[in-house]
Amino acid sequence: MDDSELRSVLAERIAGARARIAEACRRANRDPAGVTLVAVSKTVTPKVAAVVADLGLRDLGESRPQELWKKAEAVPGVNWHLIGHLQRNKIDRTIPLVALVHSVDSERVLDALDAFGRKRGTAIPVLLEVNCSGEASKGGFAPDAVHPLGDKLAALAGVTVRGLMTMAAYSDDPQSARPTFVALRELRDALSTRTGLALPELSMGMSNDFEVAVEEGATLVRIGTTLFEGLS
Ligand SMILES: *Cc1c(COP(=O)(O)O)cnc(C)c1O
Repeated sequence: MDDSELRSVLAERIAGARARIAEACRRANRDPAGVTLVAVSKTVTPKVAAVVADLGLRDLGESRPQELWKKAEAVPGVNWHLIGHLQRNKIDRTIPLVALVHSVDSERVLDALDAFGRKRGTAIPVLLEVNCSGEASKGGFAPDAVHPLGDKLAALAGVTVRGLMTMAAYSDDPQSARPTFVALRELRDALSTRTGLALPELSMGMSNDFEVAVEEGATLVRIGTTLFEGLS
């Protein structure tokens, strides 16, 4: 595929994903401006990621810190989102590159980020990853483990918790993801009431289920396959 073909394929797919988000917003009576499309570039080269950014999609996501370092160097000036596990020994190098960490999946990581944020003097914006689907293969806090963190969250000076993130179980039927997304929203609402924190962000929805996630209140959808299938 030559460069102009790549560009037109990506432009068409981005427009298609945006139209589907807008349609889901219409069904849910939401403003599409309240949903950020995060292009998950983990399967493609920095070159493809750069075309996406050039086409005006300015939020990109990576699940591995080392891959994010590489892409962020090749594609500067966009909002990079970390959506996978962050090892504590990679915090120093990763956080300066990242606009939002979606995937704080343990109290140990939360504490290490808090320490880093305090040291540098500005709070790090993060989401807590919650395992709402209950699958053993998925990381994140168990829903029951989130409430006990409540008092602590409001007291963190090095981290600003902006909301919650989850991944639904994969299924051929996107509707089967709905209870997972409802559970995340309800957990957010309860945690917000308890802590007094605003918690405006819900990162939920991937290629297979993002329209259902938007109907249930997603403010960030993380989309890879729909944009990048067959490209590399
Ligand atoms: C890979 C990945 C995505 C994107 O998944 P697709 O099904 O390809 O859209 C979203 N979120 C996380 C955490 C991922 O690792």
